[in-house]
This record gives sequence, structure tokens and C-alpha cells, in this order.
Amino acid sequence: MSSTRRTFIKATVTTGGMAALVGPNLKLAAASDFSPSYLELQSKGLLSERAEQLYQQYQACELCPHRCGGNRTAGEHGLCDAGDRVRVYSHTPHFGEELPLVGRRGSGTIFFSHCNLRCVFCQNWPIAHEGRGRLVSDADLAGMMMDLQRRGCHNINLVTPTHVLPNIVRAVELAARRGLRLPLVYNSSGFERVEIVRLLDGIIDIYLPDLKFMDGEQASRYAMPGAVNYPAMAQAAIKEMHRQVGELVVDEQGIALRGLMVRHLVMPNRVAGTRAFVEWVAEHLSSDTYVNIMPQWRVEHQAFEHEPIARGIHSEEFLEAMRWAREAGLRNFDERALAAERVHLRRQS
Ligand code: SF4
Repeated sequence: MSSTRRTFIKATVTTGGMAALVGPNLKLAAASDFSPSYLELQSKGLLSERAEQLYQQYQACELCPHRCGGNRTAGEHGLCDAGDRVRVYSHTPHFGEELPLVGRRGSGTIFFSHCNLRCVFCQNWPIAHEGRGRLVSDADLAGMMMDLQRRGCHNINLVTPTHVLPNIVRAVELAARRGLRLPLVYNSSGFERVEIVRLLDGIIDIYLPDLKFMDGEQASRYAMPGAVNYPAMAQAAIKEMHRQVGELVVDEQGIALRGLMVRHLVMPNRVAGTRAFVEWVAEHLSSDTYVNIMPQWRVEHQAFEHEPIARGIHSEEFLEAMRWAREAGLRNFDERALAAERVHLRRQS
């Protein structure tokens, strides 16, 4: 851990009396004490080195657990269908993310086309499955980051970044030279190689992974068949993310500065393994981990063809998920999950 980050983390306190503004159990730090990690790496000349290390992956790609091995610089495409140039669907302030990311001015999302997991129920399937978007240069990508900063966003939210990491890190290096000062949010399906996540140490401030499945058979049934190792890969990667950035820290306005936020979508018929998920978080991360247990399951894309998931979730399914989370000792829940819990409880009374 770098000295700047050590100082910043020492300066954090638990929110306590500011509960109404930022949630009762989050850690608090002054926004003025914060500077994004990548600036320190850049000042030591290490950020471009890291980008080059990642770019070497494109010659025999093993960026993600599929480890296709294809030469992307020579035009080969792996299972994610991405080449060596980045394809972007959109870059825009987004207000549908977790409240600590959205704040008042939005999370600066960049949606990358293609995906290395491609779940059958994907809500972004035209982007993730069909690869809709336009090819851009790394300099263009840096320009998008600067545009989001100019528009007042609180962070740069990299949506589905795994398969284009080399381009992203090079773009961050270019943007940092032009004055980028926002924290980076690594918004991932969780299907990561821990060895690659280690290369992001000192670059990413906020990790936002999903932990979608706790059972490999369910992962290979409802995502790509090669994702049978999803639970093991995602769990190892998330432990490493937690080691790098720890629990979520917010500023005086409740805006996320650094830390881990884990998402888990409740699925019909307990397909996602929610009870195992909350117990795993409590045992392997900490009960203070910011957890978003998401109620917004929708039957999307090819989910209609899979009988166990071809329906909405019942109130009981969401309520049992929240109950299991509390029983496991978790205590930092996303505000919208808590609101959804209240709605479902009212429906039942
Ligand atoms: S990032 Fe794409 S090409 Fe590289 S290993 Fe993963 S699926 Fe294969």
C-alpha cells in the first residue's frame, strides 16, 4: 500500500452522527484529503509501465479466466469477441447506480461493448452480446474521461472493463496528464483473473464487482459454458480487490472516494445462491462490506428459454435474501435495497 493511501485511510472515521447523509456504518474522509491512486503511480512513472505490461496480454490474450491465448494485435478475437481497439457504446452521467456513486451530478459511466461472461439474462445484451458501439482510439477514450469530469461527474465508472483493460489504463495515463482527478470505478461482472487484478493495485480506487453465482454449474448454465469456474475466480478476485482498497469510504456529502462495493442480483428459485453469497462476504471480507442485494431481476434476452428463471422474483425471495444477509452479520446495505425491502414488507402486511 502506498504512503498516500495509508495517510488517507488513517484519516477516515466511521460516519456515526452523519448517518442521515451518508449511511450509519460507512467510513468517512474529507474530500480535500483525497487524491486518486493513479496520480501517485503516474508521478513515479509507473502508470505507463503498467499499461505496457497489460498491452502485452494482447499478443496471447489471458486477460480473463477464459485464457483464449489469441493474438489480438494480429486481428484474432477471443470468446469476448473484442480486438485490440476499444469499442464504446456510450459515455454519459448516469443516475441509476448506487447512491454513493451518483451523488448530485451523476456517475460518469463509460459502457464498453462486448463481455467475457454474457449471461443469458443480460439487461444490456445489445451492448454486451452483440457488441454495439463504435471503435475509438485510446486518446478518444481519454477525451471521454475528461468530458465526464468537465460535466461534473463524481467518478469515472468503467462498465464491463475486463477485456479492454490495456486500452483503459493507457487512456487513464493520457487523461491524468491532461488533469483527470476523479476516482476510477471498476464495474465488473466479477469474472476476473486475480493475477490481472493485482496489476490494477494503485490504479483503481473503487471496485464494484458482481458476485452473481455461488455454484459453477449455475454459472455455466446461465452465463458462458466456460464460466464453470466463475465462483472461484470471482471470489479470489474480490478478495484481492478488498485487500487493495478495503471497505467503502465516502466524503462529507456521502460520495464514494475509495473502497469495495459488491453487487448481487437475487434470482428466481435461489439460482444465484444468495445465502451462500452473504455468508461468504461475512466470512471472507467483512461485515462492514458495502453490499447491494439487488431486487431488480427482469426476464430479459434469452432468460425466457430457461424455465427456472423465466419469471419475476417473489416478495418472499427478496425478503429472505435480506434476512439471510442480516443473519450473516452484514450491516452496510445499499439504500435502494433497504427501500425495496420496506416496499415488499408493506405488500405482505
Ligand atoms: S479477454 Fe477476451 S480474448 Fe482475452 S482471454 Fe478473455 S475472452 Fe479471451
